[in-house]
Amino acid sequence: MTKAGRYAPSPSGDLHLGNLRTAVLAWLFARQSGRDFLIRIDDIDAQRSSPEAAQRQVADLTSVGVVSDGPIATQQQSLALYQRALTTLIDADRVYECYCSRKDIAEASRAPHAIPGRYPGTCRNLTERQRTARREQLAEQGRVPSLRLRADVRHWAVAEGFAAEARDRKFTGEVDDFVLRRGGQAPEFAYNLAVVVDDAHAGVDQVVRGEDLLSSAPRQAYLAHLLELPACTYVHVPLVLGPTGKRLAKRDGAVTLREIGPGEARAWIERSLASALAPRDGAAGRGWIEDLLVRFDPAGLSHEPVTFPG
Ligand code: GLU
Repeated sequence: MTKAGRYAPSPSGDLHLGNLRTAVLAWLFARQSGRDFLIRIDDIDAQRSSPEAAQRQVADLTSVGVVSDGPIATQQQSLALYQRALTTLIDADRVYECYCSRKDIAEASRAPHAIPGRYPGTCRNLTERQRTARREQLAEQGRVPSLRLRADVRHWAVAEGFAAEARDRKFTGEVDDFVLRRGGQAPEFAYNLAVVVDDAHAGVDQVVRGEDLLSSAPRQAYLAHLLELPACTYVHVPLVLGPTGKRLAKRDGAVTLREIGPGEARAWIERSLASALAPRDGAAGRGWIEDLLVRFDPAGLSHEPVTFPG
């Protein structure tokens, strides 16, 4: 299968300039390494996703030259694939039910030896009797348990080509018993499961995305390993900051392509990538992003925080 890179927005609203900059970088990294490029709509969270938002995102991506080489997949079309992966893990005794509420987990995490952000394993070793009792309690409230991975490692290393935390192009991070399917009243496959299955299914082997997802990469790569899927290489790029020094967001005013116009959006993205771009060679006839590609040198990409408007 052809190797590919991708950009996978969650369709919960318009993309801001930080998202579009990451998408442009994902396209540049893919093309520069001879890969195809795919867009995927990450609508696993049905409540917060809408087809209209997805359409607007795809249109805005097109305005900055980021177009998919293949059909644009959505996660809602792929639920059968996630179920199949989950069944594989269940058959391998890699899955257990978790009855904890958010509050239970928050409380357990405050215990003296707890590690922040790590599931403390409350439901990992319950007896069948305890499980039945907890399951019935939840059922009375019309809820089902979530399903967690029974991980047998605490850390996992991934190939990481950019994040400042990487050492020797490897990033090692925590793996815990993370959720594979959310419980509650409307069970939903979890993002970590969906993303791993989606990427492998589409032949994606290069993941370029915001640094906020760096800590998810070891969990995702470990899951791919358990499912005997190929490992991806990762490039986690810094998030763009707004004028207040915090992560760029709607509250910062005009932050989307629709608000500032496509010309201004392209100009800002280009300025923000200046250290990784050779000067223009004056050749005519190339599109904007194709021109960036000819000039792009990932080695020049800066680790300094980028601000918008800058
Ligand atoms: N859909 C995720 C987001 O918009 C990104 C998933 C990924 O790049 O792995 O935050």
